[in-house]
Amino acid sequence: MTYPVPWINIPLRTALAMWHQWTKTEVPELSKFSVLMKQRNKVENTLRTMQQAGPGTLQVISDFDMTLTRFAHNGKRVPTTHNILDHRILIDEDCTRNVRKLLNIYYPIEIDPSLTSEQKIPLMVEWWTKVHHLLIQQKIQRDMLAQAVRESGVILREGYKVFFDRLAELQVPLLIFSAGVGDILEEVIHQRQVFHPNVHVISNYMDFDANGVLRAFKGQLIHTFNKREGALLHAAHLPELQGRPNVLLLGDSLGDLTMADGVAQPHNLLTIGFLNDQVEERTELYVEAFDIVLVKDETMEVPNAVLKFITSGKDAK
Ligand SMILES: [Mg+2]
Repeated sequence: MTYPVPWINIPLRTALAMWHQWTKTEVPELSKFSVLMKQRNKVENTLRTMQQAGPGTLQVISDFDMTLTRFAHNGKRVPTTHNILDHRILIDEDCTRNVRKLLNIYYPIEIDPSLTSEQKIPLMVEWWTKVHHLLIQQKIQRDMLAQAVRESGVILREGYKVFFDRLAELQVPLLIFSAGVGDILEEVIHQRQVFHPNVHVISNYMDFDANGVLRAFKGQLIHTFNKREGALLHAAHLPELQGRPNVLLLGDSLGDLTMADGVAQPHNLLTIGFLNDQVEERTELYVEAFDIVLVKDETMEVPNAVLKFITSGKDAK
């Protein structure tokens, strides 16, 4: 006599499906030691939802300094767009000394975990207003910027070309939102040949006179903690970003998280935070704030893997 046991199939199949779900790593790079996630399940669900929606619904918003560029190389800090201006063809020794003095005063404030953004904002405005004032006094010549960038030692994170090229190929807009200097930023990505037509930059731009000499900075100052205002003012009006409710955001500062505030009715937001510095003091804050935290990871390996996954859905090329 045989006993049909159809019920055994169902739990077995379910168990197998669940096992498959648990063991299947859609993005193996997320298992790297440098990756921290508070809610791995939520990240994986968001990744799948974004993949199903396809690259036509995606936009990428990224910070520049220490996010797309490296933090350090061979134990030395990699220059930011502001630091690139520290070149003798642009500014004199006195100016360098004064800018450095300001850095020593204000950078510890910028990254101090015990202060709120509200407490930091007036001090950040004070810092960058002073720096810009010093730069304007130097009568910087526009023609010299390209050489300063070439000789600066700036390094984009390993894998940057894959990142920029894939976004361009899929016509996914890349909004670079920087509290640095827009003219320098554009020159860096131009020299690396990744300033593709899908790239939009919101930053502090220099205003040159008819002779190509710096006379001011254009518009309202963008600093690390007022990117929200910048996002609402500029990003919301870029027609290329309309109809793209899924956002991949990259940053290295908690203030970078507000860069997506200009997105009208976002559906899915996945944030990746590079934790470059003061790791012990800031890990908890970063893990609470970003979906994926990359600890002292100088590469684009994880962002590229995430991007590859979410753009490999049905309508991908
Ligand atoms: Mg940054």
